[in-house]
Amino acid sequence: MYDYDLLVVGSANADLVIGVERRPAAGETVLGSDLAVHPGGKGANQAVAAARLGARTALLARVGDDAHGRLLLDSQRDAGVDTSGVLVGGAPTGVALITVDPSGDNSIVVSPGANFRLTPEDVRAAAGLLRSSRVVSTQLEIPLESVAEVARAVRDLPDGTTRLVLNPSPPRPLPEEVLAACDPLIVNEHEARVIVGGDLQGAPEDWARALLGLGPRSVVVTLGAEGALVASAAGTVRVPAVKVDAVDTTGAGDAFTAALAWRLGQGEPLAEAAAYAARVGAAAVTRAGAQESFPTAEEVAAL
Ligand code: ATP
Repeated sequence: MYDYDLLVVGSANADLVIGVERRPAAGETVLGSDLAVHPGGKGANQAVAAARLGARTALLARVGDDAHGRLLLDSQRDAGVDTSGVLVGGAPTGVALITVDPSGDNSIVVSPGANFRLTPEDVRAAAGLLRSSRVVSTQLEIPLESVAEVARAVRDLPDGTTRLVLNPSPPRPLPEEVLAACDPLIVNEHEARVIVGGDLQGAPEDWARALLGLGPRSVVVTLGAEGALVASAAGTVRVPAVKVDAVDTTGAGDAFTAALAWRLGQGEPLAEAAAYAARVGAAAVTRAGAQESFPTAEEVAAL
């Protein structure tokens, strides 16, 4: 039996947000709004999203021995995430410095900090957590060699039933052994373009087929308000979006990925799991923020 429905291996950042009238030019200072500090990072977001839906969730991540690290640990525990795999120290907690202008456009500087100190050795030391998890989900806000170690560890688990879900964000070309372990690889259009390594030809169905040709067992392409597309050797299926009034799309991709990973682990076929994930993504865009916007299972059912 598995102790966890989902293990998320990934980043945890403090998002420091200031509203500005306009961005400073080089050498200039501008005054902004009061500072807002939110727990974020794709790994932390996915773990909270899954736990809020009711998944037994653990997080393998690294934060600094500082106030931001404590904020992240607290927010994970408040959501019900098992944080026994969160390592502390080695560098300051990752931070995203975000300015938002009146039109809602963001400018973001990320300091990966402790996220980039989550090493392959850390992944190997967490073998017990990996073995105890039905699905493992990861992203690219930690070192690629650590993601590759996760892929190898999942591939080599003795019972072979643990599944790896990868959202390659921020995108970069991926080694074959990582691609081959993904079931599914979850990408938006921008990520698809980078992974395919050139122009995307044709419709999303064609992008998905090009991605499948690179080795993953299955592919999901998220299309924002257009929904998503799932693809495997069995063919491609469109997943319509749920119509909602979008307020803030931040974190929609993380909510979608977490929900999909959880439902796959519950034994649902890919297209059904993606349809559920589309409902979760839609619910998340109806509220502001990232982690604050993630729905409970009851809220998804009521949508
Ligand atoms: P981000 O990086 O902004 O978190 P993403 O680009 O990875 O997001 P999206 O495709 O924007 O991912 O969103 C993920 C899923 O959430 C979509 O496939 C869709 O099902 C749902 N979704 C996103 N935006 C909307 C919307 N405006 N209306 C309904 N559903 C949406």
